[in-house]
Amino acid sequence: MAISLRIFGVAVLLAGVSSAAAQPPSGAGSRPNPPAGSAPNLPPIPPGVRTTPENAHLPTEGEIKLGREGVLEVEKQYKVLTSGSYHDRLQRVVREVVRAAQSPEIVAEFRRVYQVPRPDDRSKRVPFEYTFKVLDTTREVNAFSLPGGPIYVTRGLMDQAISDHELAGVLAHECVHVAFHHAEQLIKKSRKLNTSQMWALLAAAVAGVAGGGQAAAAAGNILMGAQFVSIATLTGYGQDLETEADKIGALILTRTGFHPLGIYTFMQKLARDERRRGNPDYGIYRSHPYTNQRVTALQREIRRLGYSVDPGVERRVSGAYRLEVTPHQFQGREAAELRLNGNLLLTVVAPDGMLAPADRAQRMAQQIESLFAANITSSDVRQSNEQGAVLIRGIPVIRVLPDDAAVLGSAAAVVDRAYREILRAMLQEQVDRIK
Ligand SMILES: [Zn+2]
Repeated sequence: MAISLRIFGVAVLLAGVSSAAAQPPSGAGSRPNPPAGSAPNLPPIPPGVRTTPENAHLPTEGEIKLGREGVLEVEKQYKVLTSGSYHDRLQRVVREVVRAAQSPEIVAEFRRVYQVPRPDDRSKRVPFEYTFKVLDTTREVNAFSLPGGPIYVTRGLMDQAISDHELAGVLAHECVHVAFHHAEQLIKKSRKLNTSQMWALLAAAVAGVAGGGQAAAAAGNILMGAQFVSIATLTGYGQDLETEADKIGALILTRTGFHPLGIYTFMQKLARDERRRGNPDYGIYRSHPYTNQRVTALQREIRRLGYSVDPGVERRVSGAYRLEVTPHQFQGREAAELRLNGNLLLTVVAPDGMLAPADRAQRMAQQIESLFAANITSSDVRQSNEQGAVLIRGIPVIRVLPDDAAVLGSAAAVVDRAYREILRAMLQEQVDRIK
């Protein structure tokens, strides 16, 4: 994704470059840089190997140095979570993604697109240094990468990416920025372009990072304002490279157990949440055609890769309907709560033949989940008081047995509640879809 910190990431990079370059950009060169590659607990960068056709996809020593400088900056600003559920989830999901990102097929794609190695390439090549860390903030919904391999996601982003498909999508996108050397390309390009708008943003970002106080607040505003616009527009790595990260990211996901649609549903979700928050940049965001282009391009690419895209698949991939069963003590009995997106549908109290309450609830959850994935609409949902059930396409997915009703109160009231909760969740989905 290309959100606020991406600008920060770029600023760090350019500040790093400027320490080596003869002509630092105005305002961005005054910040003292830590010595290159001096991140704590890191072994020295291994000696580089001359570029050959076999290793031309690997980073240069320079990229690794910039990435390590970036790590120092980022970790001065943010607390990194090194254990706990967020950390564990990230490491679990990323394992498959990073393996796929380094697979021969993806490397071959990089070689094909960028025609490497170039005959005049004298760079020394070193291995990637992929690391994946959680930043302990929920205020920012963000993911970004630094050259050579460091990738960060915020806790806020992980909360938004409900399903692992979506988190994997974000990570695959970021891996492409690293594997396809987007930072290096951006630096090359920006030295040529040198647009006043870009330097103004970067200068403010660097001042904010280095100075604190009012400068930081000013930069903060720019960063927040740019946050979601940047998905679509100028920041991040620019349109072409963001589109490439989406496209290759989807290809990476086809080589994992995750669904490539995860990038797509997550992008839609971010755009929607930002509109709801009433961002002043809403107008720019809406009027900019690039978002639609990007989403459409991604959808086309996923279809081209052989996946069907329909609301049922989107529901499954985005985790739009989360059914959970939790064991529960009800008036001293073993019971189970069945919840939809956190809201109680039913407390299952009675066993059904051989099925304990928790197993009954689990069976209901599976049935409802598979019906949601089969494109049901709200007109497919009915309640039947004669059957004491909620029906979806005529199938009694929730049945209130006499033993349940004896404890919970009237069967009709229990059925009605479950019925309303299902409709409420579907209405929420409708609201979320409004473009
Ligand atoms: Zn990106």
